[in-house]
Amino acid sequence: MTQTPQLTDLQAKISAEVEARRDDLIALTQELIRIPTLNPPGENYREICEYLDRRLKASGFETQLVRAVGAPGDSEVYPRWNIVARREGARAGECVHFNSHIDVVDVGKGWTTDPFGGELKDGKVYGRGACDMKGGLAASIVAAEAFLAVVPDWQGAIEISGTADEESGGFGGVAYLAEQGFYQKVDHVIIPEPLNVDRICLGHRGVWWAEIETHGEIAHGSMPFLGDCAVRHMGAVLHEMEATLFPALAQKRTDMPVVPEGAKQSTLNINSLHGGQEEIPSDSTGLPSPVVPDSARMVIDRRFLIEEDIDEVQAEIRDVLERVKAGRAGFDYGIREMHRVLPTMTERDAPVVTTVTEAIRQTLGKDPSYVVSPGTYDQKHIDRIGKLKNCVAYGPGILDLAHKPDEYVGVDDMVASAQVMALSLLSLLGSPQSP
Ligand SMILES: [Zn+2]
Repeated sequence: MTQTPQLTDLQAKISAEVEARRDDLIALTQELIRIPTLNPPGENYREICEYLDRRLKASGFETQLVRAVGAPGDSEVYPRWNIVARREGARAGECVHFNSHIDVVDVGKGWTTDPFGGELKDGKVYGRGACDMKGGLAASIVAAEAFLAVVPDWQGAIEISGTADEESGGFGGVAYLAEQGFYQKVDHVIIPEPLNVDRICLGHRGVWWAEIETHGEIAHGSMPFLGDCAVRHMGAVLHEMEATLFPALAQKRTDMPVVPEGAKQSTLNINSLHGGQEEIPSDSTGLPSPVVPDSARMVIDRRFLIEEDIDEVQAEIRDVLERVKAGRAGFDYGIREMHRVLPTMTERDAPVVTTVTEAIRQTLGKDPSYVVSPGTYDQKHIDRIGKLKNCVAYGPGILDLAHKPDEYVGVDDMVASAQVMALSLLSLLGSPQSP
């Protein structure tokens, strides 16, 4: 239900200050989009960090450019640069940290606008990364600047970070900063990912990636009975998964408010399947040679719920393989973990959640909805390495547009989310005398 928000004078002043910076917010978003920070391979990270450095220094922040030396993907050609900016208030207090990733995914096909043009049309800014998440980054910067302009007397610190590689796991970005201790001085984290302007994202499901290999025995393809076909063994694994595993996963429902609805259960994607010799390159005119495959490999992407234990998730896959083994002569397998991320979810009554909730009520005149992301984002590193639970994702941009052609962010949503962020700063860092 929508009610007219009741704002104090100071809150109204801050909201108006953000509104007055609408054109600046648009221009900032456009300029960020015009620096193509494609990942992979990780282009122009230094350029965008230098751009942010100039902007934030001019707003009174102390800045640090941090290269994640030795992180996955870091090289002399594609160095993993990050920026952390900090501004201290008049007195000691809590630190509010806004974290945005600076990288964007591949452009792909189907665009009708220039992906790096930052075109403004009908109240929307278009471009790769507009919604995910340069619009959110710009909103957090303008929110902080508007707050600073209206409230000279405040306590604590504001930090704004622009980090590398979220789209490829965040190891050269937030994970690196967390390992370096950057989150030790932080009390509240807001990640302006595109979760929609009236929703607060509390966390994400877990991930377990593994490679399953079935073994066979190589032989001449004209006499397959002299070998043992690893691909047929893998077929039996798939069959067993269809018969028992997928139905069992569909039964596991979570109390986490995951969106979309289909992700409220455990899921498994078969990410890839390879068996036998490599495919003949398309530019080759040769024929394959006839051999019985002695190896087949399947990469699985299992997304699990906060109610599930990672050990159970693994045991479930091993049980599938053991059942096949029990009923199939010559069956042998290997299993290798590739990647794991535990689920995380911030409590509804955590200070950052209640603060942003109240700011959404004040700005939009309605209660937010609380969601959990089906996939992971940098909150995982803030939780696990940074040991900080008090973190949410909140930002403008429509989640469904992320990574799509003609990605855009709505200007009204950016302004509203910047107002929410600025009012959150007021309630967390405003001096006790502030009404
Ligand atoms: Zn993102």
